[in-house]
Amino acid sequence: MKVERDVAGARAAGASLPRPLGFVPTMGALHAGHVALVSAARAECRAVAVSLYVNPLQFGAGEDFERYPRDFERDRAQFAAAGADLLFVPDTAMMLPVGYSTYVDVGPMADRFEGARRPGHFRGVATVVAKLLDIMRPDVLYLGQKDAQQTAVVRRMVRDLEIGVDVRIVPTVRDADGVALSSRNAYLSKDERHAAPSLHAMLQRVCDLMENGIDKGSAISQAGRMLSPPGTLEYLDVVDADSFEPIETLRPPAFIIAAARLGKTRLLDNLWIH
Ligand code: AMP
Repeated sequence: MKVERDVAGARAAGASLPRPLGFVPTMGALHAGHVALVSAARAECRAVAVSLYVNPLQFGAGEDFERYPRDFERDRAQFAAAGADLLFVPDTAMMLPVGYSTYVDVGPMADRFEGARRPGHFRGVATVVAKLLDIMRPDVLYLGQKDAQQTAVVRRMVRDLEIGVDVRIVPTVRDADGVALSSRNAYLSKDERHAAPSLHAMLQRVCDLMENGIDKGSAISQAGRMLSPPGTLEYLDVVDADSFEPIETLRPPAFIIAAARLGKTRLLDNLWIH
């Protein structure tokens, strides 16, 4: 696996790889969820590029940018073992040099749910993903279902800007107790980790209730009480998978989405109805 740290080197290395080229952008701190994206790319493409960049634009003031887990050697080894051909590891001087001033704003869908709680988050994601796509020029972009709103925002951007890449959504990888793998799970205390499976159980309950004819409002208020302490619910809703607008019935393509706060950590999860 080749490692490139600058834009020109990464662009040249990407251009020299066989096609189709799959691309998996990450912020590192790899777990089996990231590996599933690389494996999906490996299975479907002739070459696989990955990136590791802790994107400062997608962190708000007071969020965990400084303490976000970073372990380059471990990540490098995992990417190589998963079959990546090219790893792009830019630094911020390379991605957002002094004087950088261009941003991608995908509109109202980026202002709901995660966007409302993390102002500017999706603008930061879209801007950096657009830049990475222009550098790597992949044929297929792999994103995790775990970050459902991010998949909708990036797909909207790809459509609107005619970026010319297929976007694949890879199902969420979970621990045995249902908790979606996340680099941020490392922050959870024992009590918080103990409460975490109730988030997924709550989503499943919304799905079961609505499949049995219960209306969305009742399903959400009933299931919303299932979150175990010390968890507090931030949102629980059913949205159209493309627009991320709330919908009243469980018709595909949709996501049942939830976010909860466990101590200082926010956890996201969703069920994909497709
Ligand atoms: P991150 O490093 O957190 O930016 O995530 C990089 C990619 O991995 C994103 O497309 C995420 O949605 C995806 N991802 C994160 N966690 C999981 C998971 N548990 N299962 C599948 N994909 C995931």
